[in-house]
Amino acid sequence: MNRVRCLVLNAALGPLDYKVPEGMVVEPGVVVECPLGPRTVIGIVWEAERLPGTEVPVEKLRNLRGLLPVPPLSAPLRRLIEWTADYYVASLASVARMALSSGGALKGRATMTEYRLTGGMPERMTPQRQAAIDALEGEQANIRELAGIAGVSEGVLRGLVNQGVLEPVEVDCDRPYDPAHPDFAEVALSAQQREASGIFSDAVRAAKFAPFLLDGVTGSGKTETYFEPVAQALRMGRQVLVLLPEIALTENFLHRFEERFGAPPVLWHSSLKSTERRRAYRAVSEGSAQVVVGARSALFLPFRQLGLIVVDEAHETSFKQEEGVRYNARDVAVMRGHFEQVPVVLASATPALESLQMAESGVYAKVDLPSRFGGAQLPAIDTIDLTEEKPPQGMWLAQRLVDGIEERLGRGEQSLLFLNRRGYAPLTLCRNCGFRYQCPNCSAWLVEHRFTNRLACHHCGHEAPAPKACTECGEPDCLVACGPGVERIADEVAERLPQSRVFVATSDTLNSPGRAAEFIAAVEAREVDVIVGTQLVTKGFHFPELTLVGVVDADLGLEGGDLRAGERTYQQVAQVAGRAGRGSKPGEVLIQTRHPEAPVIAALAAGDRDAFYSAETEMRREAGAPPFGRWAAIIISSEDDAEAREAASRIGAFRPEVAECLILGPAPAPMALLRGRYRYRFLINARRSVQLQDVIRRWLGALDHPPGVRVAVDIDPYSFV
Ligand code: ADP
Ligand code: ZN
Repeated sequence: MNRVRCLVLNAALGPLDYKVPEGMVVEPGVVVECPLGPRTVIGIVWEAERLPGTEVPVEKLRNLRGLLPVPPLSAPLRRLIEWTADYYVASLASVARMALSSGGALKGRATMTEYRLTGGMPERMTPQRQAAIDALEGEQANIRELAGIAGVSEGVLRGLVNQGVLEPVEVDCDRPYDPAHPDFAEVALSAQQREASGIFSDAVRAAKFAPFLLDGVTGSGKTETYFEPVAQALRMGRQVLVLLPEIALTENFLHRFEERFGAPPVLWHSSLKSTERRRAYRAVSEGSAQVVVGARSALFLPFRQLGLIVVDEAHETSFKQEEGVRYNARDVAVMRGHFEQVPVVLASATPALESLQMAESGVYAKVDLPSRFGGAQLPAIDTIDLTEEKPPQGMWLAQRLVDGIEERLGRGEQSLLFLNRRGYAPLTLCRNCGFRYQCPNCSAWLVEHRFTNRLACHHCGHEAPAPKACTECGEPDCLVACGPGVERIADEVAERLPQSRVFVATSDTLNSPGRAAEFIAAVEAREVDVIVGTQLVTKGFHFPELTLVGVVDADLGLEGGDLRAGERTYQQVAQVAGRAGRGSKPGEVLIQTRHPEAPVIAALAAGDRDAFYSAETEMRREAGAPPFGRWAAIIISSEDDAEAREAASRIGAFRPEVAECLILGPAPAPMALLRGRYRYRFLINARRSVQLQDVIRRWLGALDHPPGVRVAVDIDPYSFV
């Protein structure tokens, strides 16, 4: 082949043709350097017949510049890239970029200089140097990363290198990982676990596409159950991908994995150091990374020979990417299994309605774990009607819940209070003039954080010190906190039960694997009596002494009113309830609500999951909502409000007329301002028979917009803001 078609990593360009120079051997999937004007861009050689482009005469073609030293992207991965771009109405280039996610790895084998402490001291100590030495104990990384860890400038660290306090270490970027052993420490499974894992292991042996829904109650041992098929894949020399929804959960997982397989798995997530990233990427592509545990981006890694994919906590909405290519990792995982011809296990105690529906219609095979491991019982659930059992003035916890915590304190047991709101209070206003503190970049209130004494926006990260006097009217000491966040609940517990030791667990406090590990260790050592946490503590954690769970405000999730509000509330409360009584002691759950009669709350209290799901299913069917109909959103945004509005109304003017497809909008999005961009939205609701993506592509493809305007398409949206 002396001419090839390349997919170049530039979303604005279509496929480009090149000549293959004498002596270069290419095949589809190889990663190449392509000349483009005076520049060089990275491209992937693709099957020409799958990438229609304009035929350029051969004499006009330029030579490919070179081959990058990484294995070619496999045919199944190329098909996955095509499918993802097509389904989510994204450019092929932007999806391909996710598969080439380590720039360093593409350059081949390398060594790199990292630095670590020698134990020596500088001639002259400064506070900054001391701080760096304290912070860098046990760390090894490049200067930039160490500066980030220590919170000092790179200059300070270079000074320490010159003084011999930090020494350089040559690191082989591709040093192999410790091997995982399938038979290192086999676990005796219960009968129900054995039956389930046997089904998965058989599927791994068959090496064919087979999607499963592992529907197991909290504490049933889903992890142990899917470890057996993982071992089976390892015995066959195949790789495994396990997707987890949050990095805070990986700590517990890593520990259990290492106990079972004698070595940790390979990690993949967005906060890896660049050296770890390239090492993992290359090991995955060469096949030496046996088990990869990762966030959703791991889905596009270039595995050499996959044998199994597991999506744990598969109902989690964080599997949906909300920027760039807006894909749902759960669904893309199933497609990857299809192209790779391997089984895919979606594991959850509270599956998404979409997944249950797939099982019901026979597309996914459903495997159940109906009871907890080791004879532990599911907790008893009761509601507290806040309109009758009112908390004291200015407080948020009913006396019955506080009594419950106190009882646990007396027995040396632990309690967990769940409220999905970070910070101290969700709204701050001035008692004198009524001014409400709002984010300058978003349509959102600023949230007070007492730990840091700041007002913060949870959407864009904007932060400001909490003012002493009102910035509007100048009145001093007149700001009032409205409503509770987890910090405020923690204060209330400390005030009403002064003997208790309270820990606030949120993404603010558990923001690294290390801090998550400290938290787990503290709870296990019984140094914590009451955990107050957000959705982060609703899943994954297994604390045998935790016997009481209090849901501070079960109505909170229902307020947003979006399509999945009921389902999300059900999942969150059921998951957090599942943290109670996982050991030998029985658990109790108290749900605070103003609407005990609401169907979701009633189903939770009755422990009647089927009733909830069937009511929810009927509602979705009537509304033509997923999985019975389809939704898509189109968001038009710009930093200039008028520009965004005009672009939206122009798009509106070209709206297509399609049968059984309802197009609503344009209207200002509920978050009309987000991160400094003004936003307008179309919502599309269509029957399943409509080729929704084609409709959108034809509609938007014909229109051009000013450079400041962004048009984002969201297929199967989860967020309706
Ligand atoms: P789930 O994810 O289904 O909520 P886990 O996988 O966290 O449940 O399991 C709950 C607890 O039971 C964990 O501490 C786990 O180690 C333990 N466990 C589950 N199955 C077994 C088994 N077969 N042998 C020993 N311990 C088990
Ligand atoms: Zn903001």
